[in-house]
Amino acid sequence: MKALTQSGGRFWRGLLGVLLSLSVSACGQTGSDADDGKPDVVATSTIIADLAQNIGKDEIDLTSILQPGTDPHVYEPVPKDTVVLESAELILYNGYNLEPGLIKLIEAAGVKAEKLAVGEVAEPLQLDEGGNQTVPDPHVWGDVENGIKMAIAIRDALIKISPQDKEKFTQNTEELVKQLQELDNSITQQIATIPQDKRKLITTHDAFQYYGRAYNIPIAGTLIGISTEEQPSAQTVKQLVEEVKKTGVKAIFAETTINPALIKTVAQEANVKLASQELYSDSIGAPGSEADSYIKMMQSNTRTIVEALSKG
Ligand SMILES: [Zn+2]
Repeated sequence: MKALTQSGGRFWRGLLGVLLSLSVSACGQTGSDADDGKPDVVATSTIIADLAQNIGKDEIDLTSILQPGTDPHVYEPVPKDTVVLESAELILYNGYNLEPGLIKLIEAAGVKAEKLAVGEVAEPLQLDEGGNQTVPDPHVWGDVENGIKMAIAIRDALIKISPQDKEKFTQNTEELVKQLQELDNSITQQIATIPQDKRKLITTHDAFQYYGRAYNIPIAGTLIGISTEEQPSAQTVKQLVEEVKKTGVKAIFAETTINPALIKTVAQEANVKLASQELYSDSIGAPGSEADSYIKMMQSNTRTIVEALSKG
């Protein structure tokens, strides 16, 4: 019902747009893009925004709330986010509590959009957070097979709000999934080149469990848990230093969304290298960087890990 009125409205808005652009070009002004008839789609994380952009392309107006390099775990919404969420037709968020501040807003009464917890289409790993409590690990995209499931779920959600673009969304998703399958194979092959006894990952926060499991590189330690809210104690730092020494790894890793000061200290005290490139854990890189898409972020991480662990 909603879709019917929308597509009808879109036709008239489209026609109006043509007339407007004719009159605009006649007097040499730039038109407003406030309402171009495309559905307003909002994504919380940069990873989901990138997948949605690759599937929706020119047929959607996409807003990403989080910017590259922002930590979703501790992000505190600003008033503008409420405005964006309230005017959206579709909200794509990760879920499994990756972005607690935004999830609270999304669940608020004023937000009427279709909502999809994109990350929750993947089966979660349950992690022990102490005190007999397990929580679902939100970092599902670390396994590219989950990335494929997420892409397909985004496709279906876009078709629901914009059925007339079904063919384009389907075709864009097919192309994306093909690239993701190649990516998945390529990561498997590259990680397998690291000698088995050196194939251990030590990172700042616990964001690589899915990656480790999918690509056969165990997580040997992290400074903090799956959220970044906690501050590691001196005891935790000392413990990790001991673990790093025990594992015999050549390098450990900082992350782009987290202050690297403490993991640097761990590296120094354990006398190992801190990989020169930080890992992109919870966000893609800034536009123009080597990791400015989900695919490039996964490639960059894999390159960084293989280089840092294989040498020496
Ligand atoms: Zn995280």
